[in-house]
Amino acid sequence: MATILATMCDGVEATSESNPPTTVRWQEAMKRAFRSGRELLRYLNLPDSLASERAERDFPVFVPLEFAARMRPADPADVLLRQVLAVPLETAAEVASSATCDPVGDLRAVRGPGLLQKYRGRALMITSGACGVHCRYCFRRHFPYAEVPKGPQGWQSSLEILLRDDSIDEIILSGGDPLTIADDQLQWLIHALNQIPHLARIRVHTRMPVVIPQRVCGQLLEWIRSSRAAVYFVLHINHAQEIDQAVQTAVKSLSSAGVTVLNQAVLLREINDSFEAQLELCRRLINMQVIPYYLHQLDRVSGGSHFEVQEQRGLQIVDALRSHLPGYAVPQYVREIAGETSKTPLVL
Ligand SMILES: *Cc1c(COP(=O)(O)O)cnc(C)c1O
Ligand code: SF4
Repeated sequence: MATILATMCDGVEATSESNPPTTVRWQEAMKRAFRSGRELLRYLNLPDSLASERAERDFPVFVPLEFAARMRPADPADVLLRQVLAVPLETAAEVASSATCDPVGDLRAVRGPGLLQKYRGRALMITSGACGVHCRYCFRRHFPYAEVPKGPQGWQSSLEILLRDDSIDEIILSGGDPLTIADDQLQWLIHALNQIPHLARIRVHTRMPVVIPQRVCGQLLEWIRSSRAAVYFVLHINHAQEIDQAVQTAVKSLSSAGVTVLNQAVLLREINDSFEAQLELCRRLINMQVIPYYLHQLDRVSGGSHFEVQEQRGLQIVDALRSHLPGYAVPQYVREIAGETSKTPLVL
């Protein structure tokens, strides 16, 4: 514990590449995460005044040291810091009037407690309200997670719905982040899902292997290997700077265990809204055998409007990617429109 505290208090020292944060178990990493903008800014040698406590009351700051260590110290424009720091803009009066608390119609797609279905053949289980990091642009920041059923007992009704509906052959574990749940519970869930004969694929939507790479532990790899249903992971990496050696190692373990790993990113103003940033991200992803799956146009969630990029700009970026990368490395640029039968592709 002493080393952990030393690393945390060391500020700039701990952020240098040559001195990565001491590896602790992922559960400890969750516990030691920064829980206020002020703490995070001090660690980065930045002034407290950049943070907004008012915005934090709306959606608390949560940033693991592992992720903060990839930020550039003393740089208020750092592309990782921007994703996670609560700033005064979030609560500014000029937020877009079309921004809502449920921009993608989640509340209309509820099939049962904690189970959403919007698209044919695949249903989505909200398995946890917790995440390994709080992204300020998150479209689920206002989702009523407190009402989400948890644990084997809570999941029972979803399992029954899935068992009765053989039109669903893929289950997406989402949240929140499903990998914030303990492995023995996940193992139970994977086993239960594998008992449903028509379920062919289990997809895990997670940012944990990115923000706390040691989450990809032996026990996790064990339940993955035990699955009859094919296992897909969809990671969430927005910028190449998020990828360090530990992330690469975690991804390699997943691939070796037989997981097909995809990535989704969100197009974010002054974070990854340039051709160069997207090109480097896609290259880094395919070099570690991760397929760039979706690039999302931002959902209009209240408090997140300052991240929005003009669709025209996104279209130009993706078009330019197409002439520089293999076809499999170009993500589909999509927007989610409530009530549609799939994500809606955006094309020039
Ligand atoms: C985005 C989403 C999916 C997954 O869609 P794919 O196009 O299959 O990746 C499934 N269910 C819900 C509710 C979603 O929001
Ligand atoms: S990890 Fe995903 S669900 Fe959690 S806050 Fe970030 S974008 Fe939202």
